[in-house]
Amino acid sequence: MERRTLIGMLGHTTIRFYGDLAEVAWDADRDGLARVPVDRPRSVKDAIESCGVPHTEVDLVLVNGTSVDFGHAVTAGDRVAVYPLFVNLDVPSMVRPDPLDEERFVLDVHLGRLAGRLRLLGFDASYRNDADDADLAAESVHDRRWLLTRDRGLLMRASVVHGYLIRSDDPPLQVAEVMRRFELYGKVEPLTRCANCNGLLAPVPKARIDHLLQPGTRRDHDVFVQCGSCGQLYWEGSHSGELQAFVRHVRSGRD
Ligand SMILES: [Zn+2]
Repeated sequence: MERRTLIGMLGHTTIRFYGDLAEVAWDADRDGLARVPVDRPRSVKDAIESCGVPHTEVDLVLVNGTSVDFGHAVTAGDRVAVYPLFVNLDVPSMVRPDPLDEERFVLDVHLGRLAGRLRLLGFDASYRNDADDADLAAESVHDRRWLLTRDRGLLMRASVVHGYLIRSDDPPLQVAEVMRRFELYGKVEPLTRCANCNGLLAPVPKARIDHLLQPGTRRDHDVFVQCGSCGQLYWEGSHSGELQAFVRHVRSGRD
C-alpha cells in the first residue's frame, strides 16, 4: 500500500476533558483538549484511557453530542466530551455505575497511612500490604467497595466499576480528598473502628483490661473501647494529636 494511501486512512478523534479530568489527562492542552489517533476500531473507554484517565473517573461521555457507554466505538473525526462527577448536565449517563449502599473502601498496598486514618475516622477501609492488583479488583467488585489507588492502570481494568484515583501523594491531603469526593463530612465517627485491622470497636469495662494499662493511662482515663478482631485498646487521646486535630477539622465541615 502506498504511504500516502495509508496516511489517508489514519485519523484522530478529539477528546475534551472537563473539570479536573483536564489535569488528570496526560495529553490534554490548557483547554482540556486531546487528540487521539484512531487508526483501528477502538472503544471510547480505550480512547479515553489512552490519555491516562481511568474510566472510573468518568461520569458522562458524549460522542458527537450523544450520551454513550464505554463500549461505543469511536471513529476518526468524532468529537468526544468526557465529564467527571459533579458536573450536572441533565443528560442521562450511560457510564455512571450503580450507587453503592454505603461508602466502604479497599485501598491498594501504597495507601496504608490513608487506610489507617480513614479507619480512625470510623470508615470501613479494607487494606492488606500484600494484596496484588487482581486481589484488589476482585475485592472491590465482590465486596462492593470503592477501590482507592494512585495506580491508573489498576483502575483501567474493565472489571473495576467503583474506583477513585487518589490525586495527592500526601496522606493528610489524601484524607481530605476522600472526604470531599465521597461527601463524608458528617459521617465521621472516631473510635468506632480499629486502625490496625479495620475491626469494629466496642466498649470494654476498665476493670477487665486494667492489667494491660500503663500507669499514666490508668490514672487519666476511665472509658475504653477494644477491637473485637485483634484486641487493640483505644481511649480518647490514644491516637495522635495530629489526628485529633484533623477530626475536629473535618467535623467542622472544612477541607
Ligand atoms: Zn483490630
